[in-house]
Amino acid sequence: MEDKKILVTQSSMPDFEEYEAQIRDIWDTRWLTNMGKKHNELQEKLKSYLGVHDISLMCNGHMALELGIQAMNLDGEVITTPFTFASTTHAIVRNGLKPVFCDINLQDYTIDTDKIEELITDRTTAIVPVHVYGNVCNVEKIEKIAKKYGLKVIYDAAHAFGVTYKGRGIGSFGDASMFSFHATKVFNTIEGGAVCYNNDEYGIDLYRLKNFGIRGPEIVDSIGANAKMNEFQAAMGLCNLVHIESEIEKRKRVVEKYKECLKAVDGIKLCEEQENVVSNYAYFPIIVNEREYGASRDELSDYLMQHNIFARKYFYPLTNRFDCYAGMYDENETPNALYVSKRVLTLPLYAELALEDVERISDLIKNMER
Ligand SMILES: *Cc1c(COP(=O)(O)O)cnc(C)c1O
Repeated sequence: MEDKKILVTQSSMPDFEEYEAQIRDIWDTRWLTNMGKKHNELQEKLKSYLGVHDISLMCNGHMALELGIQAMNLDGEVITTPFTFASTTHAIVRNGLKPVFCDINLQDYTIDTDKIEELITDRTTAIVPVHVYGNVCNVEKIEKIAKKYGLKVIYDAAHAFGVTYKGRGIGSFGDASMFSFHATKVFNTIEGGAVCYNNDEYGIDLYRLKNFGIRGPEIVDSIGANAKMNEFQAAMGLCNLVHIESEIEKRKRVVEKYKECLKAVDGIKLCEEQENVVSNYAYFPIIVNEREYGASRDELSDYLMQHNIFARKYFYPLTNRFDCYAGMYDENETPNALYVSKRVLTLPLYAELALEDVERISDLIKNMER
């Protein structure tokens, strides 16, 4: 079928009967939210699956990051990158902090750790790096810099569910890491997210912040929000977690097929595999070099769309040129990020994507008239 629509992603779901069985006892208990049985069960299972000291589940990834930052009691400036989803920058700004944008490197599009130190001032209090596409940041260098200058580190690990580095769960690095369990991510709880952390005191603050700042029946001592994960979300997570290994394995097959088909196309650059990293195959970004390829990223994107293939300019534009930040930042100060955002296209990738479709998409890219 030439004309069936292929979107950039498709949510992973268990069989209906599995979910039905998982939610049935919610009708017996009538316990729908507020850290119920399913919430706690998922929390324990994720702690072990992700290999982290502790984890706090949230209603979505954004609130996880926003509260994860709030629980650090920061002020001043936070170093981060603009090559990310809106959430990362917004979470910093919504905490009353000033984002200071560091450029990315051109190998894996994560923060360029050689450019962090020159951005540190006496107002810098933290670094918020992003494991973009599930690519692992230079966690060792970041830890070294953070120690040297006494900075907190909270990773945006929204893309990195299940990724390990040197055999260690990616969420165990830094002071904290945020995961997103949004419908479009490798692992989903419909909407959902979590903060992983290494310090128990921090965990207590985080727990309070996701529940209105309530400490006890008559004591509310922090200005919290409501970011609790409900039982239906947790039930979806429990179902999806059972299948996570096979989901990632299927994604891997899709990625390998793309690589095989696209490795020798002039002007199309693929992401390289990282050493010591077990990937989750979350995204398949390509960089379109107009001069070598003969067409621009936007032309290729439009061409694919004409064939009902919906790739995504992810991430474009950079967060430091969003309209809501107009006049505050200059995208030219992060030239690598600007370069990549103008040329990147993430291709359709999900567990159920047929390998024949991967071939067809690749053929369109190879054979586009240009
Ligand atoms: C998805 C995403 C988020 C936000 O997560 P939600 O669960 O959608 O709120 C934050 N950062 C990045 C990089 C993301 O891709």
